[in-house]
Amino acid sequence: MEILYSVWRSKEMSDFLLNVSATMSRSRANGPGLRAVVWVQGCTIGCAGCYSSATHPHAAASLIRPSEISEWILSIPDIEGITFSGGEPFEQAAAVLETIRAIKEEKGPDFSVFVFTGFELEVLQRSEDDNVLTLLQYIDILSAGPYDYKLRDQKLLWRGSRNQSLHFLTKRHSSDQIEEWITDSPIEEIMIRPDSLEFTGFVGQKSQMLKVAQEITSRREMEV
Ligand code: SF4
Repeated sequence: MEILYSVWRSKEMSDFLLNVSATMSRSRANGPGLRAVVWVQGCTIGCAGCYSSATHPHAAASLIRPSEISEWILSIPDIEGITFSGGEPFEQAAAVLETIRAIKEEKGPDFSVFVFTGFELEVLQRSEDDNVLTLLQYIDILSAGPYDYKLRDQKLLWRGSRNQSLHFLTKRHSSDQIEEWITDSPIEEIMIRPDSLEFTGFVGQKSQMLKVAQEITSRREMEV
């Protein structure tokens, strides 16, 4: 499978920009412990049954300098890492890499990096793009492979379907902790804020909890 690269640059053409679909400052559903999450915009993999179809077009959503994202992440207290999801982070490898490098320079090597990708690890390792290969060196845990709705399994940790794999690419985390994470990491998270509703996890848009949260939000809007 070829990797399509989407490169966005600032007007001065000096900086890469990251095309961001959404962010969440604190999540326990997207990797070990408490972490910030960045969902990038753009994915060409096209897994049937993907419940993030709004993130597929490589059209400008929020184009943000990596330095701005890293500053935002560095400003969040008590998180142990960052997760990139999508969309497809490896289709913007240069900007994701620049963001992670800036964070690691400040936080040091222990700040944990988790990435969700629809590519198999072997495909990424065969890439001829230095940004892809270098990005792999910065990732502690990779959840890899295309989502297959026929193999969907809600009991999996940080994966949607049984063909997807977790790869521990550094010694920062260990597969010995999987039982502990299964207990600690929810399969869905819903945050009802005063003016918005944030939703993440592996249950998808059919989630009963999401329906209840949407009803609460719309009832509240009608009351205002
Ligand atoms: S790689 Fe992820 S975002 Fe892209 S189609 Fe597959 S499940 Fe959806």
